[in-house]
Amino acid sequence: MTSRNYDVIIIGGGIMGSSTAYHLMKADKKIKVAVVERDLSYEKASTALSMVNARIQFSLKENVQISQYAFKVLENFEEEMEVDGVKPAIFYRREGNLFLYDETAEPSARKAFAMQKELGCAIEWWSPEKIKERYPIYTNLDGIVGGTFGPEDGHFDAYSVLMGYKAKAKSLGAEFIQDEVVELITDRGTIESVKEKTAGTKEVVQDIKQASSSIQGVKIASGLTLNSSKVINCAGAWAARVAATAGIKLPVEPVKRQVFAVEPEFKVPYPLPLTILPSGFYFRTETGGLLLLGKSMKEDPVGFDFSWNQERFELLWGELYEFAPVFESLKLVKGWAGLYAMSTLDANAILGEWPELKGFYLANGFSGHGLQQGPAVGRYMTELITKSDHQLDLSIFSPERVLFNKPIFEDGIV
Ligand SMILES: Cc1cc2nc3c(=O)[nH]c(=O)nc-3n(C[C@H](O)[C@H](O)[C@H](O)COP(=O)(O)OP(=O)(O)OC[C@H]3O[C@@H](n4cnc5c(N)ncnc54)[C@H](O)[C@@H]3O)c2cc1C
Repeated sequence: MTSRNYDVIIIGGGIMGSSTAYHLMKADKKIKVAVVERDLSYEKASTALSMVNARIQFSLKENVQISQYAFKVLENFEEEMEVDGVKPAIFYRREGNLFLYDETAEPSARKAFAMQKELGCAIEWWSPEKIKERYPIYTNLDGIVGGTFGPEDGHFDAYSVLMGYKAKAKSLGAEFIQDEVVELITDRGTIESVKEKTAGTKEVVQDIKQASSSIQGVKIASGLTLNSSKVINCAGAWAARVAATAGIKLPVEPVKRQVFAVEPEFKVPYPLPLTILPSGFYFRTETGGLLLLGKSMKEDPVGFDFSWNQERFELLWGELYEFAPVFESLKLVKGWAGLYAMSTLDANAILGEWPELKGFYLANGFSGHGLQQGPAVGRYMTELITKSDHQLDLSIFSPERVLFNKPIFEDGIV
């Protein structure tokens, strides 16, 4: 047999692909879903290389609501994903996030704080004195005018969440295929760009949708053709490569980010929240007496580069020591590099059907905050595919904004 038929094909089995497969199967056990994942070890998947932080501290209302939903899901996750009496252990720890602000950042931080409060989030505004009182080891608060503490923010075991979604989706009937999608199959030869038509109105987008062609399936490396009128691109940092096989130019780039695990001589007697300095440098305590730290930098290379550069650590250690001198003495234990699937348009998710190719859906461009968006995105993609009502309207992330070059703004990008 050289071809197989499915109702939905998902490209990539990371958090987005696996959550979407689960939600589709939960919505309708009769749907025939295939998840094509080229590496079931997930060695290079961003899901497995993340800092796994979940927070409501965003400036865009929808990003806050996505995380509020994630919190609810994570609280119940182990029960919800039980398969044959086996529950995943996700080690969900709500140790808080503390964002620190300088004078420049304060106005937008206050605005986001007010919005988060209005949405019912657990969030507190702390003065520098309060910060010192709660975390006396943060002795150097020069230039810090205040901070926001989200006591319910926290972290979890990403791999267990991924495996939880995958096992449950499989138990409900989704098929996971180890292979690589090498080409999208469409019913047309070339893609006409609509950028020139640019009025940007809803009517124009409607015209494009009606005039555009359709997806028919995918070719995979082993030679098989998988047929489907609905294909979802969940290929993470590789999303633009996949889209390019149908002539679609997605503004998503792989950008290397690095994490360092250090063992300080000073043993912190309480968990430290993920603490984010105005420079973007962040750290938190990890089990085993470790600290995890990192920072996104402008010079982080674009490309599929997973090398881990210890020299970077020297820069970060300086920032840590200056902020909290108790960490003067520490040992670098390990670290890793992973990829942000960076949306170069606006560092935010791109969710929905690509207007130029009917049936081709995108769940891409999550940059540095996609893991916590996995639950809401899986549910939303399912609502789009099954044409159900939306429990949370995420249309602000529609791919139409890519065609019309209309970025949305989020101040809480780390
Ligand atoms: C260092 C680092 C720290 C981060 N910290 C956080 C954080 O604290 N909080 C947070 O929410 N997010 C964080 N993120 C971001 C988060 O990890 C990602 O946004 C999220 O995991 C994206 O999930 P995904 O399923 O889209 O991509 P991935 O997990 O990368 O999965 C994509 C999958 O697609 C597969 N694939 C690609 N191309 C093909 C193909 N052609 N055929 C078949 N399979 C294919 C890949 O093998 C991969 O397994 C971080 C990321 C990094 C790198």
